[in-house]
Amino acid sequence: MVRMTVLASGSRGNSTVVSSSKTRVLVDAGLSCRELMKRMWAAGEDPETLDAIVITHEHQDHVQGLAVTARKLGIPVYFTEPTHRAWMRWMTPRRRITYAEWLAQRQAAAQQNSDLRIPDSGISGPGNPDSGEDLEPEAAAAITAIAAAEEEGVDDAVENPALAAAETADVEEKRDPCALPAVEYFQSGRGFSIGDISITPFTIPHDAVDPVGFVFEANGVRIGFATDLGYMASNVVMHLRRCDVLMLESNHDLEMLRDGPYPWPVKQRVLSRVGHLSNDAAAEFLEKSYDGGAAYVVLAHLSESNNLPELARVAAERALRCRMSLLANQLLLASQDAPMESIRL
Ligand SMILES: [Zn+2]
Ligand SMILES: [Zn+2]
Repeated sequence: MVRMTVLASGSRGNSTVVSSSKTRVLVDAGLSCRELMKRMWAAGEDPETLDAIVITHEHQDHVQGLAVTARKLGIPVYFTEPTHRAWMRWMTPRRRITYAEWLAQRQAAAQQNSDLRIPDSGISGPGNPDSGEDLEPEAAAAITAIAAAEEEGVDDAVENPALAAAETADVEEKRDPCALPAVEYFQSGRGFSIGDISITPFTIPHDAVDPVGFVFEANGVRIGFATDLGYMASNVVMHLRRCDVLMLESNHDLEMLRDGPYPWPVKQRVLSRVGHLSNDAAAEFLEKSYDGGAAYVVLAHLSESNNLPELARVAAERALRCRMSLLANQLLLASQDAPMESIRL
């Protein structure tokens, strides 16, 4: 018996339990520990029996409750190494610096360097501080990200990991907020196992440092997991073949996003090749590239600002209806505010 319980899915938090008869894994911990525990109990899942947490990427809606939950349960966390590092940067207490402060720091550093330099060495300074020409791409991205994230009520914007790049560590912090009971690294494309669950991580196109989707296999059942992706890349299509359960992003309705409340830069981010999958893109995959093998198709990571469950459902149903052989597929919608009834196979 394999069981999958989506505890939450959407821009404000993502977390799912995948269980075999022997092993239980939490995929992402995007709610507070308290809320995760509450939802697990409500869904009939015992948090104390979890064996590990696996992380898709470092965005806040996937790691919000990670440290507290892992420490409370005393279980290991599986990341890719770049994701672990990015998560630690995000967790490190910090303060934001303004653009002027950043330039001042650069100038001070350049001054220090030039003091050490042999005169007339020909190495140029930091450039015109007023022009911004010397702005490194990473810092420029971070400043843009800060501007985007400070827009009120923009839930997707808070995901941006580039924020960490423009922030400085507070060395006064006494307790290590990144402490975890154990950390295990995996690599995209290389399968690994937790108990009797085999896990294949695969790269997804998304604006995180090393984002992955997963295929979980146990007791002859295969579960494909692909949310937070800008488009259906061919490697993703390949990994989602032969799945018995397919969890697929259906993030936004294109018209609602275009006409909706997000500022233009954030709309561009969501729409980009490293943003989120639209209802239409999910439907196109279901119609043209999906092999039709799943008993359950779960539409996930629906935006609350730019989508309606009925729009996502209708787009997917229309796509599946075009393929008569697929009528056995049961279509389910994961929700942000309540756990979904467990899928059992
Ligand atoms: Zn997300
Ligand atoms: Zn994300």
